[in-house]
Amino acid sequence: MKIYNTLTKKKEEFIPVNPPNVGIYVCGPTVYDYFHIGNARSFVMADIIQRYMRYKGYKVKFVMNLTDVDDKIIKKANEEGVDAKEIAERFSEAFFEDIEKLKVRRADVYPKATEHIAEIVDLIKKLEKKGIAYRTNGDVFYDVLKFDGYGKLSGKKLDELESGARVEVNEKKHNPLDFALWKSAKPDEPHWESPWGEGRPGWHIECSAMSMKHLGESFDIHAGGHDLIFPHHENEIAQSEGATGKPFVKYWIHFGFLNIRDEKMSKSLGNFFTAREILKKYPAETIRLLFSQTHYASPLNFSEELLNSVNKGLEKITNFYQTINGLINQTDESAGYPQFDVQKFYHAFEAAMDDDFNTPKAVAVIYDFIKEANKLISGEKNYSKNFYADILKFMDKTAEGVLGIVQKEKVSQSDTPEKVDELLDLLIKTRLEAKKSKNYQLADMIRDELNKLGYILQDTKDGTIIKRK
Ligand code: AMP
Ligand code: ZN
Repeated sequence: MKIYNTLTKKKEEFIPVNPPNVGIYVCGPTVYDYFHIGNARSFVMADIIQRYMRYKGYKVKFVMNLTDVDDKIIKKANEEGVDAKEIAERFSEAFFEDIEKLKVRRADVYPKATEHIAEIVDLIKKLEKKGIAYRTNGDVFYDVLKFDGYGKLSGKKLDELESGARVEVNEKKHNPLDFALWKSAKPDEPHWESPWGEGRPGWHIECSAMSMKHLGESFDIHAGGHDLIFPHHENEIAQSEGATGKPFVKYWIHFGFLNIRDEKMSKSLGNFFTAREILKKYPAETIRLLFSQTHYASPLNFSEELLNSVNKGLEKITNFYQTINGLINQTDESAGYPQFDVQKFYHAFEAAMDDDFNTPKAVAVIYDFIKEANKLISGEKNYSKNFYADILKFMDKTAEGVLGIVQKEKVSQSDTPEKVDELLDLLIKTRLEAKKSKNYQLADMIRDELNKLGYILQDTKDGTIIKRK
């Protein structure tokens, strides 16, 4: 398997630090608002990478942090007149709801900055002891001139960085590129005790401390959006390697931007759609298929027209899956296995994914697979159960298992109004049974959920009647 490594600027053979274990750390959300569809691209592509690593048989530990103390969170809290903690909790919850709807598999750990203050303080102490960090009035800064490799990830020399970067000018710093490891407490801001007085951690140090705590001092893959290469990831390397003297991360992966009219989607530009609002109109599979059709490192111009066209592709996949699912139960014992080489498609899928996670090629393999299988089915339908089972297995392992683009829950188009009535009847009976056994919670839940779907239940002395809103 080959991965393009931002650090070496080359496509490299993937050799884990400690096989078969693979440690992956991805910079997660700052929880001050609902995340937008640009953030979603990074979360979904990271999900596809971890799913594929598991498919390959690696023992993956996938870690995604939540930045839950930050200027943006504090600003929002002050605007609403609530605690920063309340904002962080509200939007962490929203984050988990939305990634679940996007079919993003749960990470093994979701560390929060506020729960790792001790580790962060320890790391800063190490840097201070080594003379790489300095304090000025309760703030602690990283001295970039003390770290030889500064600039190696972004591929820039110090003087280029100084003139080009938008770095905060601050007279307390020795060098404009120096960055805060610890910020002294300001009134009405969350703060913790530390050897430098009360304060809170800088953003970059959180990721160094949390990734090393959960994955060790040297681990395999660190990923995030392209915007994080400089300064965030450059600073993470400086902090971690400065403190441990060991190589921090072996492979750095960066996701291209999701753009709107060639401009990066971002909160600050106001050109964003939240993942939430897009998910109200389109299934997760459409969004994931759209992302998969572009290589993770390339920019992706987002538009609703594009989503609509991808929806058509998704329909093809869904119809195929459901057709096979129907046929599998209709074959008779005597039916034979046709000339069909499933293995060839597994190899093609893996070759695509092994080549720096080439998902557009992987999707093309799935379409080829569907085309070839459909050709067989259009002539003869009575094939052996094994044949249909192999088709479903391929779709389950690749299209669904790795890319997450098979819609299984969709009520098939052939479901008639009579069938819907039968299902409603079943729910009414279940509710009655629940009431009989005094499980009023379940009974109410059924009523409320049906209400949300547009059905009103009324209990009369002749039984329950149902009305459409
Ligand atoms: P944030 O909550 O802004 O820290 O971002 C969370 C993740 O989304 C980070 O990995 C960012 O690099 C990534 N990200 C932000 N904007 C975009 C975008 N327009 N396209 C792709 N990824 C993005
Ligand atoms: Zn980070």
